[in-house]
Amino acid sequence: MEQPETKKQMPAYGMASNCAFMVRRAWQECRGVLAVAAGLVLCGVAASLLELFVVPAILEAVERGAAPGALARLILWFTLGMALVRALRNYLETNAIFGRISVRSGLCRDLHMTFCRTSFPHTEDPDYIKRIKKASRCLDSNQDAGEAIWTTMTELLTYFISFVIYLLLLSQAEPWTAALCMVLSAASYFAGERIRSWRYRHREEEGALLHKMEYVVSQSKDMKLAKDIRIFGLAPWLTELYGKYTRLYQDFYAKSQRYYLWADLLDTALAFLRNGAAYGLLINLALRGELSAAQFVLYFTAVSGFSQWVTGVFTKFGELHRQSLELSTLREVADIPEPFRFGDGRPLPVKRNHLYTLELRDVSFRYPGADHDTLSHVNLTIRPGEKLAVVGKNGAGKTTLIKLLCGFYDPTQGQVLLDGEDIRQYDRRDYYKHFSAVFQQFSVLAGTVAENVAQTAGEKADLPQVWDCLEKAGVADKIRELPQRENTHLGREVYLDGVDLSGGQMQRLMLARALCKNAPIVVLDEPTAALDPIAESDLYQRYSDLTGTCTSVYISHRLASTRFCDRVLLIENGGIAEEGTHEELLNAGGRYAYLFDIQSKYYTKGAMEDE
Ligand code: ADP
Repeated sequence: MEQPETKKQMPAYGMASNCAFMVRRAWQECRGVLAVAAGLVLCGVAASLLELFVVPAILEAVERGAAPGALARLILWFTLGMALVRALRNYLETNAIFGRISVRSGLCRDLHMTFCRTSFPHTEDPDYIKRIKKASRCLDSNQDAGEAIWTTMTELLTYFISFVIYLLLLSQAEPWTAALCMVLSAASYFAGERIRSWRYRHREEEGALLHKMEYVVSQSKDMKLAKDIRIFGLAPWLTELYGKYTRLYQDFYAKSQRYYLWADLLDTALAFLRNGAAYGLLINLALRGELSAAQFVLYFTAVSGFSQWVTGVFTKFGELHRQSLELSTLREVADIPEPFRFGDGRPLPVKRNHLYTLELRDVSFRYPGADHDTLSHVNLTIRPGEKLAVVGKNGAGKTTLIKLLCGFYDPTQGQVLLDGEDIRQYDRRDYYKHFSAVFQQFSVLAGTVAENVAQTAGEKADLPQVWDCLEKAGVADKIRELPQRENTHLGREVYLDGVDLSGGQMQRLMLARALCKNAPIVVLDEPTAALDPIAESDLYQRYSDLTGTCTSVYISHRLASTRFCDRVLLIENGGIAEEGTHEELLNAGGRYAYLFDIQSKYYTKGAMEDE
C-alpha cells in the first residue's frame, strides 16, 4: 500500500498554455462558458467601481448644494445600477456551472478514452496507472482544477482590472499611499503564502494518506471481497486499518490548520500596519486642506479596496499556478509515448474467407521488473486453419504466449508475424479486429444479454445472429428462460431487474460473444474452466463447428481435451517442450504422456469412487 515518491519534474505545460488550452476546449465544447466568463468580469469591475464611487458622488453633490430632486435621482441611479449588476452577476454565477460541467465532462471523456485506447502494457504499468489517477483527480468535482480554473481566471481578471483602475486613481492623489499599499499587501501575501504552502508542499504525504483510506473503504465495499470478509472475519481488521489512517490524516490536517492560523495572524498584523499608515497619510492631507471631504472618502475607500485587489491578484495567481500544475498532469498523460502503433501504423483490413498464418520467430518475453524470461526463444508457426492446443502447468506461460499472439505485448526479443509480416508495423487496433477471444478473466458490462453478445447498443444488435451464437455456445435455452430473454440486463450493479448468471453460463455467453465477432482467428483461454463435465464434453464435441475453418488456439489444463485439435504444444521451462497430435505425444512416452497418465488416473479413480 506504500506509494513510492516520484521524482519532481517540471510541468510540460506552463500557465499561459494551460489557460489557452481551457479556452480552446470551451470554444470547442461550449462557447457559453467564455461569454459567461466575460460577463462576470464586466459585472465584477462594474460592481467595484459603483461601490467605490457611490458615497463620494453623493457627498460631492451635497457639498455643491445639489437640489433634493437631483440628489434623490443620483441615489436612485446608483442603487438601480448596483442592483442590476448584482442581479446579473448572480444570474451568471448560477448558470456558469452548466457550461463548465460540460467542458469538464469532455475532459473526463477524453481521459477515459486515453486509458481505453492506450497500448495494453500501459494498463498493467503501475506508474502509468498512477499518472492516470493523478490526472483524473483534477476532474473529480466542481472544486477541482478542471472546472474551478474558470472561477480563478474570471476572478483574477476582475481583480487585475480593478487593481489597475484603483492604482491610476490612487497614484493621482497620493503616489506614496499607492506604493505603500502595494508593497505591504505583496509582503503580506508572500509571507502568508509561504506559511500556507506547507500543505501544498506535503501534498504527496496527504495524497498517500487519503489513498490508504480510500483503499480500505473501496475494499470493504468490493463485492469480490464480500465472501472473504465474512469467512475470514476481515471486518475488524479493515475497521482497525481505517481508524489508523483516519487518525494519521486528522493529525496531518490539524498540523496544516495550525499553519493557516499563523498565516492569518500575520495577515491581520500587516493589514493593520498598511491601512493605519495609508489612512494616516490621507488624514494628514485632509487636515492640510489638500483633499475635499468627497475626495477623502473616495481615497479612503480606495485604500482598503486597493489592498484587496493586490492581495486578490496574488492569491488568484497562486491558485491559477496550482491549478495549472494539475492541468499539466492531465495534458501530459495524453502525451505519454505509445509503445504500439495505432493511427500511424499500416492499415490492416480483415480479409474475409482468408486463412491466416501466425508465427512466433525466436520470441522471448520478460515481464517488466522480472528477473527471468517467461518465454525464451520460442519458434512456432500456426498454419492456416490449424486448430492448435496449448497445454502446460500453471504459470508455464500459456496465457503469455496467447497475449503475444493477440498483440497485447510485444516480444522482448524476436518477432510475431501475421502472414509473414511483423505485426509491429500495423495499426494495432486493426490487428485486434482479426481475433475473437474468450479470456480467463472476462468482463461483462451491465447491459442486456444481446448487447453483451453483439458488443453494441441494443437497437444496433443483429438479433438473428445473436441467437445463432447463443445457440452454438449452448446457452440459448437459459436465455429463453430469462424474464426478458435477450433483453434481460446482466448483473445488479446498475439495473435492479438484472440477473446474475452462473460462472459456466457466463463462460458460454462469452463464447457466444466471441462467435458473434466472427473474426478469422479464435483464441480460447481455458474456456471450460467454469463448465460442468457434461457441458465441457459438449463443447469439445462441437469445437470444430464453433471455430469453423478459423485458425484457432485453445489453452487447457485438461490434457484429454486436446484430442480434437490438429496439434498440441506442451509449454514448459519457458519453451515448447513437446509438440504433436495427442496420440503422437502419448506414443512418444515423454512429459505429456506422463502428465496425461497422472490426470487420467486421477479422473478414473475419482470416477470409480463416485460410482
Ligand atoms: P499460465 O497461463 O501458463 O498459467 P501465465 O502466462 O499466466 O501462465 O504466467 C507465466 C508467468 O508469468 C507466471 O510466473 C506469472 O507469475 C508471470 N506473469 C503473468 N502475468 C504477469 C504480469 N502481468 N506481470 C508479471 N508477471 C506475470
